[in-house]
Amino acid sequence: MNDSKLNSDKQNFDNKIFILEDESDIAELIALNLEKAGFSTRIFSHAEPFLNYLKNDIPNLLILDLMLPDIDGIEVCKSMRKDNIYSRIPIIILTAKTDELDKVLGLELGADDYVTKPFSPRELVARVKAVLRRDNKIITSNQLRIGNILEIDFQKYEVFVNGNKVELTSTEFKILKLLLNKRGWVFTRNQIIEFIDSNDRGIHDRTIDVHIKNLRVKLGEAGAFIINVRGIGYKFSE
Ligand code: CA
Repeated sequence: MNDSKLNSDKQNFDNKIFILEDESDIAELIALNLEKAGFSTRIFSHAEPFLNYLKNDIPNLLILDLMLPDIDGIEVCKSMRKDNIYSRIPIIILTAKTDELDKVLGLELGADDYVTKPFSPRELVARVKAVLRRDNKIITSNQLRIGNILEIDFQKYEVFVNGNKVELTSTEFKILKLLLNKRGWVFTRNQIIEFIDSNDRGIHDRTIDVHIKNLRVKLGEAGAFIINVRGIGYKFSE
């Protein structure tokens, strides 16, 4: 596995921010301030071209306005969170001050933070940095390396522990991927069940425990990263 990208200086791989905002003066103000802070930016005024563009290039973070001319920002967030690759892109939503519901909904749908309009550019930059710091080990390529122990190629569905390839079932791989999407977050068994397969009605809480147990065994030393949070579920923690 080529891990040069993973070990490169943080500056090199988490500096690309996409801004999806149709009000050009706001978008430009954000871009200007982020660029001053050392980020590179790209502005999209409509959701559809943005979603198409993602097929070619993935940002390290998305600033997402909720009021867009074509597709609702909430829908954008929702569809990204359902996608295998895009779900790992941190999102900060921009919302009008009064839209409490949007904030809650946005966070429930997996946004990482929100900033209310009108906002100070300085605050927004600080939020961006904070979210990236939290996610600084989530990289935008298809590969992820954790410590010197665990390597995952999401595109090829390959997992290596200490350089040795580990064969996971597709369910085990999905569970690992889910936990890695938000490291440190606790996922309930129900959330895991929903993520791995909505069609298979045979999956129950105990089945999840069995999958996790098998996954841990297969991951060997890296299995210790998967933590059972009593009474709640599981998380991935280094
Ligand atoms: Ca707008």
